[in-house]
Amino acid sequence: MSLFETLAESGHEQVVYFHDRDSALRCIIAIHSTVLGPAIGGLRMWPYANEADALRDVLRHSKEMTYKAAIAGLNLGGAKAVLIGNPETDKSEALFRGLGRFIDSLGGRYITAEDVGTNVEDMDLIHQETGFVVGVDQVHGGSGDPSRFTALGTLHGIRACMQFKFGHADLSRASFAVQGAGQVGYHLTRLLCESGAKVFVTDINEERVEQVVDECGAEAVPMAQIYDVEADVFSPCAMSAVINEDTVPRLRCAIVAGGANHQLESAEFGTELERRGILYAPDYAINAGGLMNSAVELEGYDEERALRSVARIHGIISRILTRAAAENIPTWQAADRLAAERIAAIGRIRLTYTYNDPRRR
Ligand code: NAD
Repeated sequence: MSLFETLAESGHEQVVYFHDRDSALRCIIAIHSTVLGPAIGGLRMWPYANEADALRDVLRHSKEMTYKAAIAGLNLGGAKAVLIGNPETDKSEALFRGLGRFIDSLGGRYITAEDVGTNVEDMDLIHQETGFVVGVDQVHGGSGDPSRFTALGTLHGIRACMQFKFGHADLSRASFAVQGAGQVGYHLTRLLCESGAKVFVTDINEERVEQVVDECGAEAVPMAQIYDVEADVFSPCAMSAVINEDTVPRLRCAIVAGGANHQLESAEFGTELERRGILYAPDYAINAGGLMNSAVELEGYDEERALRSVARIHGIISRILTRAAAENIPTWQAADRLAAERIAAIGRIRLTYTYNDPRRR
């Protein structure tokens, strides 16, 4: 399939390749949609085996960002950037500042942020060359690392799921199996334990597990056993595709709700969860807290406003669950429908105002 055919199929607006020989910069930016506003999406740095893998990754993730921003109620579109290289060895000031200049040349169609392989320091370097970046350090007026807000948003979503499934949202009466004690998993485990919940946790990194056991009072579980734990909620907060053929039959939970991206290996496993009576909180809706926090930065960062914005995830998840029940469809499909409907409706309004209202010319 040609690139234009691929873009036509996925509905992408633009794909841009950037190259700089001196800094070895090789970056692809995919802008999926600017219908709701400037397209926002993280910058992922990864040693892709080849260019085709990098392109596939950036196309997939940028489309999802469109849906994430739309369901979160933001006036932003979706995009993603991938930087081909090893984050451990290939970073330099020139690389990120060069990328900053390229991003600036897009004139605000694309706004970048941190993602896998990049961090606040990298965003600060980009910020030296462009204002089209969020997640920069607080000293530059930014909001820094978004993971605390991702975890908080996930907690709001978990409460909505519990209310729907159990008729109460009392965390102290519930148990949780958290996969991953990294940035999001750590903050989520801490919040759950502070609310009196019973939390089982695992991570490939033993030090991280020790930290949450010591600091929060969570109970460690061997990595391979996390799917078998009898807990009310299984919360994936580590890798993608953990809901798959092997794991679904093992789950002993009533709810799957976590911060990880791409939890379903494919949509059919979301449907299979529903069939087994397990409620699934669509990943891109429940983990939008970090994005909502970063979006506040675009208007001048204020933590109070960010916290209020992130709290909306409770209502967003409730709406998805209600819609799924009303139409007898899986929750992942209800989320997709709600996001697509907002894009279509607001897109129409924007077009009308742009061309008919003299105040908006
Ligand atoms: P992180 O790298 O800080 O944490 C991931 C953790 O998972 C690490 O501690 C790692 O050791 C652990 N891990 C890796 N493989 C594992 C395995 N097989 N079993 C158990 N643990 C394993 O990343 P993060 O920022 O906490 O992100 C976690 C997930 O949430 C990712 O899917 C990410 O895309 C998603 N997410 C993060 C944010 C954010 O604000 N950081 C926002 C939206 C979505």
